[in-house]
Amino acid sequence: MVRTIVGANWGDEGKGKITDVLAESSDVVVRFQGGANAGHTIINDYGKFALHLLPSGVFHPHIANIIGPGVALDIEKLLAEYKSVIARNIPTPKLYISDRAQVLMPYHVDFDRFEEERLGKASFGSTKSGIAPFYGDKYLKIGIQVCQLYDEDILRARLGSAVTQKNVVLKNLYGKPEIDVEQLISHLQELAERIRPMVIDSTLYLHKALKAGKTVLLEGQLGSLRDIEHGIYPYTTSSSPLAGYGTVGAGVPAREMKDIFCVTKAYSSCVGAGPFTTELFGDEAQELRKRGGDAGEYGATTGRPRRVGWFDAVASRYGCMVQGATEAVLTNLDVLGYLDEIPVCIAYEVEGKEITDFPNTPTLMKCTPVYTMLPGWKSDVRGVTDWNLLPENCQKYIEFIEKQVEVPIHMISTGPKRSEILYR
Ligand code: GDP
Repeated sequence: MVRTIVGANWGDEGKGKITDVLAESSDVVVRFQGGANAGHTIINDYGKFALHLLPSGVFHPHIANIIGPGVALDIEKLLAEYKSVIARNIPTPKLYISDRAQVLMPYHVDFDRFEEERLGKASFGSTKSGIAPFYGDKYLKIGIQVCQLYDEDILRARLGSAVTQKNVVLKNLYGKPEIDVEQLISHLQELAERIRPMVIDSTLYLHKALKAGKTVLLEGQLGSLRDIEHGIYPYTTSSSPLAGYGTVGAGVPAREMKDIFCVTKAYSSCVGAGPFTTELFGDEAQELRKRGGDAGEYGATTGRPRRVGWFDAVASRYGCMVQGATEAVLTNLDVLGYLDEIPVCIAYEVEGKEITDFPNTPTLMKCTPVYTMLPGWKSDVRGVTDWNLLPENCQKYIEFIEKQVEVPIHMISTGPKRSEILYR
């Protein structure tokens, strides 16, 4: 059976924590897209961790953690992260890398930076981790798969051809030094040796595991609204964080995907550029930002203050729909305990009309939120694990959101720690 954890919104919904919780009852955890550009915060018995590339199953020694073929693999960052996690006395995790995953090159990071510099004010708010140039090259078919690192002739030929193009742009568009192919090849060969014991045919591994009745957990990064097809293009990422893509990016049969957990916060937060209809500013934003997450709403990868806003039912319903969610998981409920009344966006107003279906990006940019006010519960629900112990207004808030997103909510997170979870 395959279970999938994905985000309903702009990312940072708390998927890492939920994956850490559900990993306990899984055998394999797989990352299927994206790269080191997002962060998953996990707080468990070993401490607090911000994972970027490592699957969130690494804290359970019984779990096989896989970097799937759809991931943008920055080998240096993966190794550094692995080392830093091990250094904190966790049992050595089982980590495997798909031989078909493609390698994020140092020049992808450079191109990301140079392009954002060139765009200036029109930039996309990239994390400058090289993700867009990486996926661009993958679809131009000038990427390098992990398996190709171990064949010097193939590597030299493919890299030589890719770098010829790169150097023209580096020199003429950006005015930067050109890439030295030979130096790059030896660097890559050295990295390839270091990961050699972890490299496997992960698709075969997963198919065998599923045949043997194992439970596989796919861990998405970012969220629906950052999907390259269905998100707020062009303010999206360059891959697909949708559960449907999980079957491709991980390499599992679609018919095996049974549960799709779509994680959403009890309010909204967003890192990066693009339309964000319920965004708050000023003191109201500062208050919510300060109280949000485990230590305020600041990006796990970039440390940037996150944009925050009220719960957006229009966007979240759409987010759950495109994920094909079988259930929504509500996180950060504890954060809202300070409010007398809680606004929830139930529609958008655009050109004098009210709409409740999430529109395309040009229309979205003209939308303003229509709020309904729900009564607050004015108490601290942090760590509550029993539905009956939640204040009535808090239960009503959850029930309201459940109705709005049109999928059941069975799991509710009431704090950043692994144990702070309520099953309804
Ligand atoms: P991910 O990328 O979806 O894994 O999300 P992040 O880890 O980037 O952001 C989620 C933030 O919310 C982190 O700071 C988590 O520690 C925190 N968090 C997760 N669940 C809860 C919760 O129920 N309550 C609170 N207060 N913080 C939470």
